[in-house]
Amino acid sequence: MTEKFARAERCPVCSSPRLRSHKKGTFDYALLKKDQIKITDSEYGKVWDLSECRDCGHIFADPCPRPEFIFSLYSQVEDPAYDEEAEGRSRNFLGILANLEKLLPARGRLFDVGAATGILLRLARERGWSAEGIEASEWAVAFAAENYAIRLNQGFFEEAPLAPSSYQAVTMVDFIEHTPMPREAMAKANKILAPGGILCLVTPDIHSRAARLAGMRWWHLRPGHLAYFSLPSLRKLLSEAGFEIVKRKKYAWTFSAYYVLSRIRTFGPLIKNRRAASFLKRIRLKLALGDSFEIYAKKSPGS
Ligand SMILES: [Zn+2]
Repeated sequence: MTEKFARAERCPVCSSPRLRSHKKGTFDYALLKKDQIKITDSEYGKVWDLSECRDCGHIFADPCPRPEFIFSLYSQVEDPAYDEEAEGRSRNFLGILANLEKLLPARGRLFDVGAATGILLRLARERGWSAEGIEASEWAVAFAAENYAIRLNQGFFEEAPLAPSSYQAVTMVDFIEHTPMPREAMAKANKILAPGGILCLVTPDIHSRAARLAGMRWWHLRPGHLAYFSLPSLRKLLSEAGFEIVKRKKYAWTFSAYYVLSRIRTFGPLIKNRRAASFLKRIRLKLALGDSFEIYAKKSPGS
């Protein structure tokens, strides 16, 4: 093992030292490459060596990549396929914005963590929010600037200098399972929220029915995911960071039929046909798999 990775002595969520081995890894993480951690990677079933916390049930990569190593890899990620699904992703993000607007007295400043190509920010601005965000990938930051005239901060949320108590809303869609520092990320989200501000968090649910049925073929088991949350570990993470859950639902993904079929090897010949591909890209599928949490949590008074 090199110094790129570190063994955990304590649970990254609740700090308990009572850890046990959960699953043996199924890929050689010593050779981890940037293409294995991009959003649209399809290396399902590839997991790190996983440990489980006996107290909060959190499941996480152990050894875990050190922040400086994984952050440097994320800054180099390029993922042109991500924005091809902008329309489907927009539908999901509009649902999130509508929920935030119901939970808050007014639209104010919103901060998106792991903003990718800025799709959520663009929609938020159209709806009257003052929206900003941060993204690690230099490619995604350049893409957002060129295509949407959106200027994202390039860097890592956990270490970014951001003004405290400044935002009414923080969004973290598919972010927390990628960071080796979930407690620090959550504390930072709490710190930058104004009193009464709301965090929206979306992350896969390892206890979901879809996860149990799919076993090792669950599509969230992939090299980019360093952590697998369940309701008890998420509750712990949020309450320790000074949040109170105010709304919880299951996240439904919207993708094109092309995207879904391109994830499945059997359909290779079909999606390579240009006419078929163009047709499939126009069909929207809403996947109500119920295997991700969509949680809204309010900054607790005095936190
Ligand atoms: Zn724990």
